[in-house]
Amino acid sequence: MTNTQTFEHQIHIIGGGLAGSEAAWQLAEAGIKVKLSEMRGSGEMTPAHQTEGLAELVCSNSFRSDDADRNAVGLLHQEMRTLGSLIMASAEKSKVPAGSALAVDRDIFSDHVTKALENHPNIQIVRERVDNLPEAGPTIIATGPLTAMTLAQSIGAATGEDALAFFDAIAPIIHRDSIDMDICWMASRWDKVGPEGDGKDYINCPMDKEQYLAFHQGLMDGDKTEFKQWEKDTPYFEGCMPIEVMASRGVETLRYGPMKPVGLDNPRTGRWPYAVVQLRQDNKLGTLWNMVGFQTKLKHGAQVELFRTIPGLEKAEFARLGGLHRNTFINSPRLLDEQLRLKSAPHIRFAGQMTGCEGYVESASIGLLAGRFAAAELQGRTLDSPPITTALGALLGHITGGAEASDFQPMNVNFGLFPPPEGKVHKKQRKEAYTSRARADLQRWINGEPEAIAAE
Ligand SMILES: Cc1cc2nc3c(=O)[nH]c(=O)nc-3n(C[C@H](O)[C@H](O)[C@H](O)COP(=O)(O)OP(=O)(O)OC[C@H]3O[C@@H](n4cnc5c(N)ncnc54)[C@H](O)[C@@H]3O)c2cc1C
Repeated sequence: MTNTQTFEHQIHIIGGGLAGSEAAWQLAEAGIKVKLSEMRGSGEMTPAHQTEGLAELVCSNSFRSDDADRNAVGLLHQEMRTLGSLIMASAEKSKVPAGSALAVDRDIFSDHVTKALENHPNIQIVRERVDNLPEAGPTIIATGPLTAMTLAQSIGAATGEDALAFFDAIAPIIHRDSIDMDICWMASRWDKVGPEGDGKDYINCPMDKEQYLAFHQGLMDGDKTEFKQWEKDTPYFEGCMPIEVMASRGVETLRYGPMKPVGLDNPRTGRWPYAVVQLRQDNKLGTLWNMVGFQTKLKHGAQVELFRTIPGLEKAEFARLGGLHRNTFINSPRLLDEQLRLKSAPHIRFAGQMTGCEGYVESASIGLLAGRFAAAELQGRTLDSPPITTALGALLGHITGGAEASDFQPMNVNFGLFPPPEGKVHKKQRKEAYTSRARADLQRWINGEPEAIAAE
């Protein structure tokens, strides 16, 4: 451990979440001395974190699809693994079954990241809240969507605009032994078998039409959390929308979203139910299960009352109830250059969700790039951005220039951010065309070779 008085850092990273942890690792592995400031553990907490562990996952325990051939986030996993990502290595060590998705035991995962960083000779971890943007010295800001208000104000003042904000919601977690398995059953959709699972990875709670309609009405009528004044008029991110907001869009919306029954044969009837609530394993022990897609801003009492009307959850005991939180990000296309540096103060880089990417993996991947860019700069090397045909390059492109600054919104990685494959490619081969091109181009970037397709 390096937490001694004599440690002289070459770069300061603020925020020890997914992005800050990955950036610290990349820099330290490149031989750069890093000071990592994390406010949790100094008596401070965010509204969503619950521990002092680095890289704590605040809601779902899923890193989404691990399919590197047909899915953009699976490809991003693979690219990060190729580049020695600590976040991906820690996910590997803490995997739990989740079909074709990569899901982790959140405590084992965070513990692995924390220990790896604590034990690295080039890293000093300081538990402190930083309130101002440093005026000099290489710095990476990775304080995430719940950046402490004082620092958010300092960033707002330095960038000449207020940091933007919108809402995110978190889903409830239930104790496994309180779920009635005489009603529910285990299955993955279409019995799909993933690398860690057996085609029976989710707990499924079936609903008939009458139960579904009553549940929908309950969501509409349920007591909701009041908005605070500063929260008014801020939009939701579509990928993490509260269940009751989805319900308000139409009585059928949930049956085409998180309550979709297709591909889920109920063994007791031999048919798909009218609607389904799915739970996914949340810890390695298999004692905790989260309600998939059930992020909510219903009041806690209303959640317990309504969710216990779901067949099989009548006696559900909740380890955590859903909630609603602020999300803070900057207008990156306007403020950052293609190396993630603040144009007006280039000693400062931004990383993670603050840059306007969305998701655990995306946040960590931008941390990885910020760390590598900073390491190259400190060592007097030039490191070009990864090609836009790779998942890393496509996401970076969205953040630093792909979107109009006027309507910039956070984004998960997806094939829409990549240039289309060259020539005629049959629809069925399109995804593989994206991913095989990405692999070849990432390798060229790693080897320092020119891009196969010139940036158009
Ligand atoms: C409520 C909520 C639920 C989410 N659910 C999901 C989900 O289910 N799946 C998903 O993929 N993504 C989810 N996200 C989005 C996003 O992926 C995560 O927030 C992710 O953790 C972002 O990584 P990060 O490194 O940018 O920030 P974080 O992981 O939040 O890390 C930031 C760190 O900075 C610290 N910090 C803040 N201010 C200061 C300061 N002034 N000084 C020192 N330290 C500071 C914080 O304590 C924290 O440890 C969610 C976001 C929120 C807010």
